Amino acid sequence: MSSLSPITNEIEKYEAESSVLETSQWDRNNLMRTILQYSNTFLENLPDAKAYEHSGYQSTKLDKEALAIGRPAPMEDLLTFIRQRTDKPGLNAASGGHLGYIPGGGIFESAVADYIAAITNNYAGVFYAAPGAVRMENALIRWAGNLIGYKGRFGGNITSGGSIANLIAVTTARNTHRITAGNINSSVIYTTRQMHHSLLKVLKITGLHECPLRIVHLDNEFRMDTTHLLALIQEDEAAGLSPFLVIANAGSTDVGAVDPLLAIATVARQHRLWYHIDAAYGGFFMLTKYGQNVMTGIEQADSVILDPHKGLFLPYGTGMVLIRSLAHLKAAFKQDANYMQDTHAYDEEYSPADVSPELSKHFRGLRMWFPLKLHGLEPFRAALNEKLLLAHYFYFKVKKLGFEAPPFPDLSVVLFRYVPANGNPDTFNQKILFHIQQDGHIFISSTTIEGIFYLRAAILSFRTHRYHIDQLLKLLQTQLRHLSNEETLKN
Ligand SMILES: *Cc1c(COP(=O)(O)O)cnc(C)c1O
Repeated sequence: MSSLSPITNEIEKYEAESSVLETSQWDRNNLMRTILQYSNTFLENLPDAKAYEHSGYQSTKLDKEALAIGRPAPMEDLLTFIRQRTDKPGLNAASGGHLGYIPGGGIFESAVADYIAAITNNYAGVFYAAPGAVRMENALIRWAGNLIGYKGRFGGNITSGGSIANLIAVTTARNTHRITAGNINSSVIYTTRQMHHSLLKVLKITGLHECPLRIVHLDNEFRMDTTHLLALIQEDEAAGLSPFLVIANAGSTDVGAVDPLLAIATVARQHRLWYHIDAAYGGFFMLTKYGQNVMTGIEQADSVILDPHKGLFLPYGTGMVLIRSLAHLKAAFKQDANYMQDTHAYDEEYSPADVSPELSKHFRGLRMWFPLKLHGLEPFRAALNEKLLLAHYFYFKVKKLGFEAPPFPDLSVVLFRYVPANGNPDTFNQKILFHIQQDGHIFISSTTIEGIFYLRAAILSFRTHRYHIDQLLKLLQTQLRHLSNEETLKN
């Protein structure tokens, strides 16, 4: 045995050296006190903080030091770095003044639930390893499925976001319709220019970019023109092609437009297309009467994606895909491995690993379940109703200021632009955008549709209230005055 003592000595040495990786209760208390202080300061300062900080993008000496990995550093230094160099510059996505792109939120209870998920490090990918975690995630999927009107043996997955949710949906469509090298050139996909660009990525990843892609016309409300969809499908069928997939929006990112979901469903069913609805932004408005009306027909889709990190105000990293047939979903993803052979002993619930590209995964369900259970649904419903009305409020007010706002918002994104008496309207609105982003208290973004530059206000954060909308209106009014003075001086 004595021959082993060099080994045991060395083991002991390494054990001692690495022991700092296991904290003591005293360390934990200290750390948590500091972190709590940091988060309180961050949250208390939010109302006065800028929604966008445009200066300070260049990397600094501080970045270089802090980002060099190797030697230990005091915690205070790390928090200082976070405060000074990662909380800003850029977009403050936690701010109620964030009205760009599609805002998120980040409710506090989710952060705390994330902490628990990370502490216990539940292995949420496989039912055998963490039945409680998987049962919770699948219950959330059932809840969301019922919310959009799914019944029976549907399935789904809590993903890292809408992009991966789209990937899972389209992969399932491809597998179910048996799209292969042999028929890919004749399997046609239909969508509009309002399709989110994550789906273009998905088509590339899945190889389906080799399918013929038909761009269906939009109507005046930027919704899919179903008559044109039908005409394109009939044309393709007559030419011997096989219409395969139609992708619709329930709340497009550009303008928040909801396609005529029911009419598309009828066409999809009659011509045996897989019907995918991207409801990443709009989906959780199904919690409101208004949203239910606008999204009538969503339950007819073969697949739907929703983003809890948008419409349920969770921190980034939570998306969801729902597939009408669990069997189709499993057929697209389930794989086995010899080292997984003992995991099949219990199968009350299907495992996330069987219906997604992931194996090991974060226990995302907890951050969704915890706030929903703590608060119940009503505050979420109220927040979403508030956003819808804020969008209406902004729409009427911004038109009063003289802006064009086509069309009336389907949900909570408002598109608008000013057409000055003289000069290029695009340049004029770009200037408005520039000045508002320089100010930074409210953040809005822009888009270009059919060659026309638009400003857009996307109202979705649970922290966005009338105060922010009034602030934006005031900024717009100031800019209008400022820019028309400039114009007068020039002439
Ligand atoms: C945000 C969004 C996506 C992409 O979702 P991520 O969570 O950002 O990956 C897809 N479609 C629509 C309509 C979106 O608004």
